[in-house]
Amino acid sequence: MKYEGRREKMVRTQIEARGVSDPAVLRAIRKIPRHRFLPEAFQDQAYDDCPLPIGHKQTISQPYTVAVMTEALGLTGRERVLEIGTGSGYQSAILAELAEWVYSIERIPELAKSARELLDELGYDNVAIRVGDGTRGWKSEAPFDRIMVTAGAPKVPEPLLQQLGEGGRLVIPVGDPYTQTMTRVTRRGSEFQHESLGAYRFVELIGEYGWDK
Ligand code: SAH
Repeated sequence: MKYEGRREKMVRTQIEARGVSDPAVLRAIRKIPRHRFLPEAFQDQAYDDCPLPIGHKQTISQPYTVAVMTEALGLTGRERVLEIGTGSGYQSAILAELAEWVYSIERIPELAKSARELLDELGYDNVAIRVGDGTRGWKSEAPFDRIMVTAGAPKVPEPLLQQLGEGGRLVIPVGDPYTQTMTRVTRRGSEFQHESLGAYRFVELIGEYGWDK
């Protein structure tokens, strides 16, 4: 109960007040118990206005960042979505509420395992999680209607552009290790339109088409 009140306040003061208005996105964030995705020591801060550690030097994104990135995908409930950087599985749960299928890739096996267990426990049966290098995408399941990358990239990984379907959208933070521009790429035939959605800071996307380890 204590968490429900904090979650409602978080949605109003951190997310709605800053301009996120897609009703489906707000509904998903109101529903999902964000504190469950954090190590016990940080659960008390789960609804604070900041990113938090999830172990293995990784972080769960600030709630507002999750909201902005999700809204930028423009989901209708029918999409197949590829997510790179499962982490805690929180963003995967949000996507699972709003899309038909979520395919999520995480490079750290322990994070993939705990995300899988929690998503199973919460009843999300439309999320597939794989351990691997997400910068290469998930070729056997391509094309995707939407792709979300939740780690900072030096450039947009070429395989992800190739695996984006017609009319598809990709949201990814691109920049140096300290600051990235949230970038939305929309595919129209062989053309890719780029839009900038503001400055953010993420952990590094490490892989063949990302940063070196
Ligand atoms: N969306 C997550 C936050 C992820 S933090 C959540 O809601 O909790 C970024 C994650 O990307 C980290 O777990 C990191 O291990 C992972 N990552 C970094 N490079 C990756 C790559 N090439 N492929 C897959 N996962 C990667």
